[in-house]
Amino acid sequence: MTDIKTMIEKEKANIAAIRQALHKIPEIGFAEKKTARFVADHLNVIPGLEVSTGIAGTGVIGLLKAEKPGKTLIIRADMDALPIREETGLKFASTHDNMMHACGHDGNMAMALVTAGILARLKDLFSGNIKFMFQPAEEGPGGAKPMIEAGLLENPHVDYSVACHLWPGLPAGTLGLKSGILMSAASMFEIEITGKGGHGAMPHLCVDALDTAGQVVNALQRVVSRKLNPLTPSVVSIGSFHAGAAHNTLPEKAVLTGTTRTFHKKIWEEYPEILEQVIKGVCESMGASYKLNFSSGYPPLENDHGMIELMKKSMLKVVPDDRIIEPESTMGGEDMAFVLEKTKGCYFFVGTGVENGAPLHNSKFDFDESLLLLGVEAFVRFALNLLE
Ligand SMILES: [Zn+2]
Ligand SMILES: [Zn+2]
Repeated sequence: MTDIKTMIEKEKANIAAIRQALHKIPEIGFAEKKTARFVADHLNVIPGLEVSTGIAGTGVIGLLKAEKPGKTLIIRADMDALPIREETGLKFASTHDNMMHACGHDGNMAMALVTAGILARLKDLFSGNIKFMFQPAEEGPGGAKPMIEAGLLENPHVDYSVACHLWPGLPAGTLGLKSGILMSAASMFEIEITGKGGHGAMPHLCVDALDTAGQVVNALQRVVSRKLNPLTPSVVSIGSFHAGAAHNTLPEKAVLTGTTRTFHKKIWEEYPEILEQVIKGVCESMGASYKLNFSSGYPPLENDHGMIELMKKSMLKVVPDDRIIEPESTMGGEDMAFVLEKTKGCYFFVGTGVENGAPLHNSKFDFDESLLLLGVEAFVRFALNLLE
């Protein structure tokens, strides 16, 4: 019997080296050129892997076929970084100005790459196929959907999927597993309000875009509190408000941007219409016009109950049960949701601990690379149990 644990532990130095090399070269969504080359180079030296690059821009797929035919599983990692100036002081800190792997996607990629190497050596222990999916632009505008449109889920047809994200909100060395809705639908919008500019002393001759936009901000806060069912967790947040240039001039234009969140797919679909109704009412009452650009983003991320139970069963054999935690759902969004809509899947967290105080998307975010081995073990055991 192959000792999987020993195999994985031997990768400790390798996985740290991969993570650090990727950490040095962070690139933002759809610009992951060096990253995609690094990933493809690593997959290309794994015997038996068929590698395709340039999927939906910078996406990479590695296809591993077992001898025996069977079902197909996707193991997915995201490749993009954030436009953040790194302040970790690490030896392997970002060498790219104003870009940083502050969401741990360097770790997500390292786990998937090491998993690919191990599963290629264990090909006799499963049937069917495993597709290693490395996607662009998880932080936005999203690379999973364009990869699906480019044929990700066919040839061979994909039945199952699994992905992992590092999670500083859970204690280090724990697995976060939750069936059902784990993450929110996330959309973004921009509202441009146009009035008629003029003198601050003569408002009756103007249509004040700034004042109208202020009313729109307030009215949009009534969407969640007055228009949506209180039993459907949802958020509308305005993140920016730009208007005006002089103290005595009423501006002609105001621009707002914001985000909507919800655990409910129907509300996700209805949000553009609900927002438009409110904006239209306020603008018409003030004599202003508006343009709403609504970008529907990602649907809610929903885990399959059976897949979560299989992951639990696979890992309870090798980790104490107090290391498996059911995390709270989060209003964060994730475009793995598109893959999970079309396949039975499991998206889980590996806890990296909160001790150092730096959350995801923070310029000081870091983690202990030895924790990545837990994610690798979860991927390997889940794949072997699923496709045995
Ligand atoms: Zn992120
Ligand atoms: Zn992320």
